[in-house]
Amino acid sequence: MTYIDNERNIARTEAIIWIRELQQLGARKLFLKNKNIRQAFRGSETLTCGDEGITFGIHSPGSGVLLSDDMCRRMVQRAEITELTGHDNCGAFALAFPNIAKEDRNRVCREYNKGRANVYGLSYRHLTAEEMNRPKTFHNAVAIYYDGTGEFNRIEGLPPGFVISRYYSPAAEEELKRYMTIAMGNDGLGSFFSTHTPLHVIALAHPTDRQFSLKRLQQEIYRVAKGHGNRVVIDGVKTSWFFYSREMESTKNESVPVASSR
Ligand SMILES: [Zn+2]
Repeated sequence: MTYIDNERNIARTEAIIWIRELQQLGARKLFLKNKNIRQAFRGSETLTCGDEGITFGIHSPGSGVLLSDDMCRRMVQRAEITELTGHDNCGAFALAFPNIAKEDRNRVCREYNKGRANVYGLSYRHLTAEEMNRPKTFHNAVAIYYDGTGEFNRIEGLPPGFVISRYYSPAAEEELKRYMTIAMGNDGLGSFFSTHTPLHVIALAHPTDRQFSLKRLQQEIYRVAKGHGNRVVIDGVKTSWFFYSREMESTKNESVPVASSR
């Protein structure tokens, strides 16, 4: 057995544990039982990739490399971004520049993003594979966070997952489609996702803005996820407790299987 096979086996074993927990508790209870959950909604002034290995920032694939210059600039302004990051082995960067040889990609990514940061008047930081919270050669995401708060950062105790900043991103549905494809493809856990161990898309509703209510976010997710049938489950969390008071806790289970959400 090769090293990579072994790493993938470990990731699958861990994935089963995460998914069982999500199935048994639902995302809401999983969030509530985390003592540091308020830390997960601390916001950020850094624009990062939505890669599950990056656990801080306002997320956009490749730190906005797939957005038009105009769209990215607007996102930077709206989110009051002061720092831009790039990272090793960035799939979004590879997608934006398919003709760059694999061995040159990390170096060019660093240089290119440094230039972008300069244009937007931001500081720049490059994250090496060692600084990221995932295996170097594949994606171990069992979830995709569809963040309507604009504040979410994954903390310890929450399942590994891509993050889409629905609150700030002008292309969230497209990003969701892309991350689902990665998670369920060869670069992710792939055929591991099944009816028994589905990929979880977790909507994080805004505490007050109805534009990003749980229902609305889950409707958007459903439009993208419906083609995958029971291999994807749509879950969700109302986040007002984490921003304000825990008294607003509801006992309602907010998880909806794709097949029966309509
Ligand atoms: Zn990336």
